[in-house]
Amino acid sequence: GFNCGIVGLPNVGKSTIFNALTSAGAESANYPFCTIDPNVGIVQVPDPRMDQLSAIVKPQKIQPTTIEFVDIAGLVKGASSGEGLGNQFLGHIRSVDAIVHVVRCFDDDNVVHVSGRVSPADDIEVINTELALADLDTVDKKILRADKMARSGDKKAKDEVAFYQRVKGLLEQVKKLHGVAENEDERLWLRDLHLLTDKPVLYVANVAEDDLGGEHPFVAQVREIAGAEGAGAVVICGKLEAEISELEGEEKQAFLHDMGLAEAGLDRLIRSGYELLGLITYFTAGVKEVRAWTIVNGTKAPQAAGVIHSDFEKGFIRAEVIAYADYISCNGEAGAKEKGLMRLEGKEYVVKDGDVMHFRFNV
Ligand code: GDP
Repeated sequence: GFNCGIVGLPNVGKSTIFNALTSAGAESANYPFCTIDPNVGIVQVPDPRMDQLSAIVKPQKIQPTTIEFVDIAGLVKGASSGEGLGNQFLGHIRSVDAIVHVVRCFDDDNVVHVSGRVSPADDIEVINTELALADLDTVDKKILRADKMARSGDKKAKDEVAFYQRVKGLLEQVKKLHGVAENEDERLWLRDLHLLTDKPVLYVANVAEDDLGGEHPFVAQVREIAGAEGAGAVVICGKLEAEISELEGEEKQAFLHDMGLAEAGLDRLIRSGYELLGLITYFTAGVKEVRAWTIVNGTKAPQAAGVIHSDFEKGFIRAEVIAYADYISCNGEAGAKEKGLMRLEGKEYVVKDGDVMHFRFNV
């Protein structure tokens, strides 16, 4: 599966958001849920299309797709130099696919701020500096190794060193690495570095309940930084989300309605994380189960089938595909078939978001 690591300074609301994320829907029987360990939670990706499909198919079971969140507490100034458990935390960040960076945008005299005052731009810089410092360490080690090879006459290693030096220059200025790799070799070298600052980032501006409606200057700061970095940004109130996550069904809808909210902020956060990772969903729809499956955008039919079972990929013959909109407008598979809207697709078919798929395979 794919996972997002939640980072941020202490007392910004990470645990509050993580707990709300992982408790929402926990008791709903249709939606199996589990917590792997206290800091890792599997969260369902909300998708209203599941309800539409289920209304037509009336399946015994509805199985949404999921994404994993990891609460990575303990990132503080000095973490990269091994202060406290710093290195351990950085190791956790290294293992996630994307970073959800929670930024405190709420004032509350009862909640101590680590540097004494609320300042989103400064907080973001503290965290991003630690990540860049850790990456500098990684790059320096690589430079040493490649340099040795370059000296022994390896022409490619010389190019490699030059590239790493460019990366280093950006890291020293805590600048984003976006666009630093200019050719296939460099893209490969960059990927092999597994840098923390090269991961996709979603900023979460954690605001006071009263500031949910308008655009607080704190939020503007976060949006500006996110924009400049090509990162995503969502605004939520962690405290309110904690309350919403306790509710279900109609009660939840009524509460959201009273608050003037179209949906829970967490739902937006989960979907943003999903998009940040470049993920899309296809469906399988049968009376036993309507189920959502996650693939990376651009995945071809056999590999998409492989998400269900490796045998589906190995023995792939073809896929029967109905676009989501066609499936709904034709009131299901039979109707779509009648109208000639069920397509047979082969190995080169690139699966689209919302495709309702049925795979034919050899066993
Ligand atoms: P963490 O250290 O980043 O995990 O932060 P916590 O989630 O433990 O939150 C630190 C404190 O801030 C707790 O007392 C929370 O109740 C409080 N807190 C979290 N989110 C909000 C919020 O949106 N508004 C207010 N006023 N307090 C919050």
